Amino acid sequence: GRSEVRYDVHIAPADGNLVLTFEDTSDAKDLVSFRRDFVANVSHELRTPLASVVGFIETLRGAAKDDPAARDRFLDIMEGEAHRMAHLVDDLLSLSRVEESERKRPTTVVDIAVLANSTLKQLDPQIAAAKATVSFEDQAQGTMVLADEGQLRQVISNLVENALRYGAKQGNITVGVYGPAYERRLRQNCIRLAVRDEGEGIAAHHLPRLAERFYRVDSHRSREVGGTGLGLAIVKHIVHRHRGHLLIESVEGKGSTFTVILPVSDQNPQLS
Ligand code: ADP
Repeated sequence: GRSEVRYDVHIAPADGNLVLTFEDTSDAKDLVSFRRDFVANVSHELRTPLASVVGFIETLRGAAKDDPAARDRFLDIMEGEAHRMAHLVDDLLSLSRVEESERKRPTTVVDIAVLANSTLKQLDPQIAAAKATVSFEDQAQGTMVLADEGQLRQVISNLVENALRYGAKQGNITVGVYGPAYERRLRQNCIRLAVRDEGEGIAAHHLPRLAERFYRVDSHRSREVGGTGLGLAIVKHIVHRHRGHLLIESVEGKGSTFTVILPVSDQNPQLS
């Protein structure tokens, strides 16, 4: 088996103090039970909307047959459940593609600020629908990272979608990219990408497990807002593939910051 041990660092400011938790993310611990749990979770996640669709088909054949208003309402619900299943299957495929690519280093030289900005443009319709404001802060000044462009876009959109889902209604979201020149405290040649929201926040004890597959603070709420429970697991895998780190900071009732730290490409000649 693999002997490499990886850690995710989670920071939770509590009463003004910083609480650091280290998560061992080497997933070789018990691969068999991990797979078994995963299959059980996926089955459950698909079974629930499927049961609802089957139930409504029966209702449409019976009681609601001659009630056009009820029929339309039930069709809407069924459509929603179908979308939910499709979304879950899409996320499962993303996760398996990311896992497959994990041993290969990303090879494209990407300007992180340009990529972040254009990803935000693509998210405009969702941002508008949520009546949120997203401000973009570029302190990376053209810093390049070695990346898989599509995967890095997915990281940004998953984090922004979460900020929209769990952020304050009409709240502010900030997406910032910070280069090595700005980010002196990182010392190494890294860039920082941060997505901040002013939403409900997350209690500290959830943070170490938040990026696990299907881990949710509130399953009901996650489903209601269209979550699959896989968004952060996908983010975590992509970040690891890029030899980076995922940090989560949150204060309940105030908001959350999800930070991705990535090594810069050595094709930045101004950096040693
Ligand atoms: P989901 O599809 O449920 O959003 P994720 O893996 O993206 O799955 O996130 C896991 C859980 O983490 C969510 O269900 C939610 O409880 C919590 N979460 C994620 N992002 C935020 C955020 N910005 N603010 C508050 N809670 C969050």
